[in-house]
Amino acid sequence: MSVSRDDLMAAARAAAEGAYAPYSKFLVGAALAFADGSVVSGANVENVSYGLSLCAETVAAGKAMSEGRRGGLVAVAVSGPKAHAITPCGRCRQVLVELAMLDGSDPLVWCDGPGGVREFRLSQLLPEAFSEL
Ligand SMILES: [Zn+2]
Repeated sequence: MSVSRDDLMAAARAAAEGAYAPYSKFLVGAALAFADGSVVSGANVENVSYGLSLCAETVAAGKAMSEGRRGGLVAVAVSGPKAHAITPCGRCRQVLVELAMLDGSDPLVWCDGPGGVREFRLSQLLPEAFSEL
């Protein structure tokens, strides 16, 4: 059972509504789809000490891993303000790789933007990712 691109992007857009971004006002949502059909979403969480802020993808991956998920990641959707094309930042790419590499998966990454949804493989976004596994 898999989640469609449209459904996962809708989950990412809905997740953005939960963002805590009082400083940047840049609301981002991410949704992770797993092989069992489940979806885990997250939104960015800022902090007055800006460097402590967390991106939506990192929040979603942290939620998933703290719920015991280890691999099975088949797709990621990321959405932000309508005027901006969104891709995961470098840190989030490595965070997503941690979840994906536990079972050797290479999930699709769907990135929202004004020109439509762009599709990548995580390995395209972060080739030669750091790994000790
Ligand atoms: Zn990030």
